[in-house]
Amino acid sequence: MRIPKPESWVEVRPEGLYVRPGRFHVDPTRPVPKAVITHGHADHARAGHKAVLATPGTLAIMAARYGVEEGQARQALSYGEPVNIGEVELRLHPAGHVLGSAQVSLTYRGSRIVVSGDYKRRRDPTCPPFEPVPCDVFVTEATFALPVFRHPPDSEEIGKLLHSLALFPERAHVVGVYALGKAQRVIRLLREAGYDAPIFIHGALQGLCALYEAQGVALGPLLPALAREKEEFRGRLVLAPPSAIADRWSRRLPEPVTAVASGWMRVRQRAKQRGVELPLVISDHADWDELCQTLADVGAPEIWVTHGREEALVHHARAQGIRARALALVGFEEEGQ
Ligand SMILES: [Zn+2]
Ligand SMILES: [Zn+2]
Repeated sequence: MRIPKPESWVEVRPEGLYVRPGRFHVDPTRPVPKAVITHGHADHARAGHKAVLATPGTLAIMAARYGVEEGQARQALSYGEPVNIGEVELRLHPAGHVLGSAQVSLTYRGSRIVVSGDYKRRRDPTCPPFEPVPCDVFVTEATFALPVFRHPPDSEEIGKLLHSLALFPERAHVVGVYALGKAQRVIRLLREAGYDAPIFIHGALQGLCALYEAQGVALGPLLPALAREKEEFRGRLVLAPPSAIADRWSRRLPEPVTAVASGWMRVRQRAKQRGVELPLVISDHADWDELCQTLADVGAPEIWVTHGREEALVHHARAQGIRARALALVGFEEEGQ
């Protein structure tokens, strides 16, 4: 049997990537009959699909976000476990992005395509590490695909935050974090650095923090930041979605030092524009070095780039003798925006 060309069985449709011989989509941006979901971020995991297949962690996150959708068929698949859908064999592998995040490995008549969703390569105490899977086509994101994006070690960034806390014991420190993934990772990193005091969390983070705890990620003492005296926040850490930092919500805090934990904090201009005093470069996406390393580790002769800054990565891949094409999928957002 002749091995089919990758683009003959996985195609780009307006609603997203479609796997023809399995009749399902991966991370579709509109409701479809059957969706395989890489992870729980809202731009990848949307509501309204008739059937959903994902890891147990991602299904739990979707249920927390959207409720259990009426009439929806839900199939949980653990990492590494094979399942056949039509003529396609599908497996999920850790992506190291957030709890439950998975790459989707698809094999059809001897041709294998791996859709990595969002991923990073550095250690994350809240989820298992990215696993390189050999394949014919590696489908990759490109959120931080410019050589200027090099994320420093997490411990350095957490160290900056703890140093500032020690320096300004009379001020509150408010850290802008994306509610899914970043919040819990920053908390875990703080705990690993020896910070064991209670951490105040904005109401928008509570549900997902509780979900992580229920999935076995211990976060230590957390307190709701609701209905408290201003004085209680002095010398304390408060975590909130980035949007809450600029608005009235943060006015309840005494002389707050504003921090934001995001890969975008590498761009000074952005931090400045948003009035961030203490930018923390902590990203759940691969930086330039991690992206290049991943292409080398996976060793695929061809890559497809889904969203982000495609050109630099396509150029880099071609220079390595890798065929590369930009899919320019729409509907995916920048991290934490
Ligand atoms: Zn994501
Ligand atoms: Zn994404």
